[in-house]
Amino acid sequence: MGSRPGGGYYCDHSPRGVLWKALDLARQVRALPAEIQMVCPEIENFPHAAMGKTAHGTSVESAWYLAQSDCNSLSYALVCSGHEDASFYGSQLSVLEKWAPFFERYLRENEGTTPGGFDPVMGREHLKRPARDKGTPMGWAEPSVLSSYGFATLGLAMCPDGVSPCGAVLGAEAARGLTEAEARHLLSGAVILDGQALHAIRLIRENLPRVMTNPKDEKARNQLQIAATMAGWAFTIAQVGLAHAMAHTLGILYNVPHGAACGIVLPAVMRFNVDFAADKLALAAQAMGVNIAEMDARTAALSAADAVEKLMKAAGHPMRLRDVNVPEEGLDMAAFHAICDTAALFNARPVGDPGEIAALYKAVY
Ligand SMILES: [Zn+2]
Repeated sequence: MGSRPGGGYYCDHSPRGVLWKALDLARQVRALPAEIQMVCPEIENFPHAAMGKTAHGTSVESAWYLAQSDCNSLSYALVCSGHEDASFYGSQLSVLEKWAPFFERYLRENEGTTPGGFDPVMGREHLKRPARDKGTPMGWAEPSVLSSYGFATLGLAMCPDGVSPCGAVLGAEAARGLTEAEARHLLSGAVILDGQALHAIRLIRENLPRVMTNPKDEKARNQLQIAATMAGWAFTIAQVGLAHAMAHTLGILYNVPHGAACGIVLPAVMRFNVDFAADKLALAAQAMGVNIAEMDARTAALSAADAVEKLMKAAGHPMRLRDVNVPEEGLDMAAFHAICDTAALFNARPVGDPGEIAALYKAVY
């Protein structure tokens, strides 16, 4: 038995499209039952229009499907426009004929191998989601999901699913389709945007004190804007955690500016998380300029919280909730609100008891 997967790539004027189709084919092939022996992708031209592909483009496309998609044969829909005369098809076929021995050898030498590389994550539920808000569910991925496949144009090898990846590319749209278990699993390892987050920390450490000393230092302000953008880029993927849940609540209940509230609770939350994110907090300590070479991971992680406090003091940041007019008697109720904030779901250390949050609020009161 055989399968003839397809994917809708009709014109080689936008070469990235062939990467998308190769990955989509690969996903289809991975879902096939074991008894399917022959996998023969359709390599097609747009019906009823002039030929959208050159012979060379078609040959490169063929190689991609053999390499990336686990296909073991090739099929072509060449004569489907009627706009070209027979000699045109003859020249197409003669080029493919020249490539044929290469295709055959390639298949022989790669028999039994599996495509690996970065997995552009797409949640299992993703295809059941509506293409637009309030739309009907449809069985096609949104183009915005496919845009993560553009990583392949950077030369990163792409893996069609989680079977043999060396890492994951997780776009915000893809994250919408993940179950919580899938999201937790993915985010438990290294995240490619950790680098953005860590560099944002470095830029803030260097430039925040400068701006506080001289608010007219445009270069330092610009660096802070870059830091804010990089940090935002990273937490679109990794999400924010308990510090934000606690800060959102104080903002709504007591009009505390979000940045100030985040800052006040952050060192306490970092310490609260220490046994669940020691490695990453140690990296944060390093980005804050702490020499962690002689420290164990836990000590290094705790030193990150100390370094954040030190920077806040240097920048004249309020250090306690009493400084920003939060009433002490409101803290227990604020904890109940904070535990219901979605950011709390993404905290490194699972939070199940509002009493723990109340204790954190009180520690920084
Ligand atoms: Zn926030």
